[in-house]
Amino acid sequence: MVAFKEPMSTVHRVYNFAAGPAVLPVPVLEEIQRDLLALPGVGMSILEISHRSKTFESILARAEADIRALAAIPPGYRVLFLQGGASLQFSMVPMNLLGPGSTADYIDGGSWADKAIKEAKKIGRVNIAASTKAESYARIPAQSELVLSPDAAYVHMTSNNTIEGTQYKQLPDVGPAPLVSDASSEMFSRPIDVGRHALIYAGAQKNLGPAGVTLVIIRDDLLQRSADKKSSLPSMMNYAVHEENGSLYNTPPTFAVYALGLVMKWLLAQGGLAAVGVANERKAAKLYAEIDRSGFYRGTAAKADRSVMNVTFRLATEELEKRFIVESTAAGFDGIKGHRAVGGMRASIYNAFPEEGVDALVDFMKEFEQRLG
Ligand SMILES: *Cc1c(COP(=O)(O)O)cnc(C)c1O
Repeated sequence: MVAFKEPMSTVHRVYNFAAGPAVLPVPVLEEIQRDLLALPGVGMSILEISHRSKTFESILARAEADIRALAAIPPGYRVLFLQGGASLQFSMVPMNLLGPGSTADYIDGGSWADKAIKEAKKIGRVNIAASTKAESYARIPAQSELVLSPDAAYVHMTSNNTIEGTQYKQLPDVGPAPLVSDASSEMFSRPIDVGRHALIYAGAQKNLGPAGVTLVIIRDDLLQRSADKKSSLPSMMNYAVHEENGSLYNTPPTFAVYALGLVMKWLLAQGGLAAVGVANERKAAKLYAEIDRSGFYRGTAAKADRSVMNVTFRLATEELEKRFIVESTAAGFDGIKGHRAVGGMRASIYNAFPEEGVDALVDFMKEFEQRLG
């Protein structure tokens, strides 16, 4: 007889506003817990099985099929499960796609874009197509500001700026150049037009699953550039090598892929990306309405570019902010402190973040203002 010390229903969970790793859907965690000792019909844990086993092969194939269904991925794209986080993509993208003599355009819209640019410059020639760095990245660069290179190898953008709390509402028009998007902090939070991208990458730990796996969706013509570099690029850095081996060139992060697969299944059960997008809009609107209500709180992102995923705001003084963070943490709201680079507060409200947690934070904000406003 198995006796749980704490039945799952009474486990206390705080509201987790962390930017990543972040909150996961409770039904996913419960399924992991239920099946951790032995996957049904397998008799071994997901932590123990071979990545070459039929079981894992089918877990990987199921995850890919669900990703394709969720994002309505058109033909001509490959789905890869890689490692090294989005940060390794900062290097892999230029290593695979930026040849000698060509230029890659980067839209510098946030701190992660800045990091991507620094890495790309180590590999090849980079043109900053636009930058809002001088404005502390408080807004997304406008279409009219883009200065694109003729024949750019690709144009790199960050679709949601996790640290500053801004997000593209529409994809930029980059003409015929392949569009590469770092979608780490918003992947599958709303419908995505994969066909307008040449490559999309996302570290899983914000919106897709646990840390350890990075999702890459790549168009076949870009894959060809990797194939041409097979003799020069290290195999682990080469998209074509990973693609030819079905993301099993080396041992993949089996548990992370499994858990990501469960999150995909959960997303489909929610009604897919359109339904999830509506719920995310509603959650964010509640929080921004409270921020805008009285002037006690101040949103830091330009209103038109506000992120639905990472809601950034400040108070009049750093003293008050410190107090807000201490008191909100004590009240059961975790991870609300802003990124160390920008200060203030940041409420990350990814797909799995419950709406009642947003309501509870809004109530807390009202009460805090009444006491200290
Ligand atoms: C978190 C984040 C990264 C870095 O991800 P790692 O998986 O830690 O390498 C890169 N880009 C964006 C937009 C992010 O939010």
